[in-house]
Parts: sequence; C-alpha cells; structure tokens
Amino acid sequence: MEEIRLRAFAKINLFLEVLNKRPDGYHDIETIFQSVNLHDTLVVRKTGRRPHQHMIRCNPDVVPLNQNNLTWKAVSLLQSCYPQVGAVDIEIQKRIPVSGGLGGGSSNAAAVLFAINELYDLGLTLPQLSLFGSKLGADVPFFFLGGTALGRGIGDQLTPLQLMHNFDVILANPGVHISTPTVFQNLKLPLTSERQDVRIVARCVEQGLLPELGVGLFNRLEEFVLVEYPSVARLKRELSRTVSYGTLMSGSGATVFSLVAETEDIRSSIDVLQCPSSFRTRTASIGLEIA
Ligand code: ATP
Repeated sequence: MEEIRLRAFAKINLFLEVLNKRPDGYHDIETIFQSVNLHDTLVVRKTGRRPHQHMIRCNPDVVPLNQNNLTWKAVSLLQSCYPQVGAVDIEIQKRIPVSGGLGGGSSNAAAVLFAINELYDLGLTLPQLSLFGSKLGADVPFFFLGGTALGRGIGDQLTPLQLMHNFDVILANPGVHISTPTVFQNLKLPLTSERQDVRIVARCVEQGLLPELGVGLFNRLEEFVLVEYPSVARLKRELSRTVSYGTLMSGSGATVFSLVAETEDIRSSIDVLQCPSSFRTRTASIGLEIA
C-alpha cells in the first residue's frame, strides 16, 4: 500500500474535573470524552525521499507544517523504533478548529500513527498504537477507542462507556487561542470535598438521561477561562439561551458546545450567535476511520 486516507474525528468533554498536580507537572483528571461527527481528512503517502524529509500540507494553512506538527512527531516517534519507516507526505484537510479544545492535533496524530502502521506493515495492535500515542499527548489514546469513554490519570487511562442515545451537538468557537498549559498553571485546585463526581454524568450517559446529563455537564477549567476570556463567557451565555439540555466549554476551550435533541430546529438560534465558526454536529461512535 502506497497511500492511505483517513478521517480523524473531534471530541468534546462532557465532564472534566482536575484532581491533583503530579510530580511530573501534569495533572490527574477525570473526564468523559465524547466523539463528535466533525472530522479532518488526512492522506498519508510514502515517498522516496530521505527518512526525515517529510512534507506536510494543510488546507486551510492553520497549523505548523514542520517538526512542530503533531503528525510529524507521530512519524518520528515510530521511526525511532522502526527504521524501515521512510519519509512521508501528509495532507491535512482541516475542519476541526485549531486550539479549540476539540483535540484536533491529537486526533491527527492518532490517525498518522494508524496510517504508518498500515503503510509499513508494522503489525502494531490498537493498544500498542495507543501507548505510542500517549507519548505524544494525553488525549491521543482516546482516538483509537472513540465513542464515549471515561478518562483517568492524565486522561490516557480509558474505560469505554456505552452511550444509550445519540444526541445533536452545537459547537461554537469564538476564534481565540487559549494555551492549555496556561489554563492548568492558573487553575485553583478544588478541595477534595468540592470535587464533582464523574459517576453521575457517566450514569446519565449510559442510561440515556439527556436532561439530567445536561444539568450534570461540568468542566473545572471554565473557572479560569470564562473570567480571562470574556468572548468565551459571552458565547456560553448566548448558547445557553438556545433550546438545549445544557452548555459547556470543551477541554481547555475555546469551543463551547450545547446538547440538543435530534428533533429540535435550532437553525435560527445558531444564526443569532454571530459567531464565525458555529455548526450543528452529532455524537459519533468512532475516533478515526479509513476514508
Ligand atoms: P486538546 O483538546 O487536545 O487540548 P486543542 O483542540 O485545544 O487540543 P489543537 O487543535 O490540538 O488544540 O492544537 C493545539 C496546538 O497544537 C496548536 O498550537 C496547534 O498549532 C498545534 N498543532 C500541531 N499539529 C497540529 C495538527 N495536526 N492539528 C492541529 N493542531 C496542531
């Protein structure tokens, strides 16, 4: 096989609580990941160039096209263990907003690990790919599982959850760039007694209790972001006024989402948002797939 085309889906976090700071500087969290039906498309192609001469193209041109791109890092990581992996061309058609808390970079990285495994017949299993993924970013392993999952540790220890009912999701991104490390550095850790319980949201997911799920949506990182980034707070307020079960910021922002029933006609509500990047999507059961 000379080339492979993949869809790499976005995620939202239905729940995110921060437990403690670890000696290595990362934070232990409890989160519920949910795949949504918004995807980037990637084509990965073998080339005859020297091993580290990769070439990345992205349309629109919104991410680094060099060693700083997570997809480049994904190839390099596998090359460090499997010398037979050569230089590749990577084309990324971006739809997932960048730095949006939707895991776009992580999802692209997972897709490229998957692609290299196929193109070079490395024979790695999904758990093995997932382990490589965790070296690139805490969210990367989730995309090998997709669907709905409880994440513990730094978000990389995953337990699949059964989503009883699909639902529609409105995503709205105000276009501001929020640095994830900055959000974590400025976070005030909750006391143990203040922590929100992930099991409540997990139960709502598995029992299909949409109204209760809407009420239980929680993200500890909002405390800092909504104060420091008024545009995110304003968007959340506006989105809360639409017909929805609940509204929340995803990951470290800046995307805000709300859960709506499939039957709701909310076109006019989306138009009212006056947000450059807002659209309706839907829960998905996969993190990536061959296109
Ligand atoms: P997460 O939700 O996993 O914290 P995010 O959705 O907030 O991530 P990304 O879109 O993954 O953010 O981008 C984070 C950073 O990674 C940006 O600075 C971006 O330039 C960089 N980056 C590197 N490679 C990619 C890629 N292939 N796609 C998107 N961003 C990338």
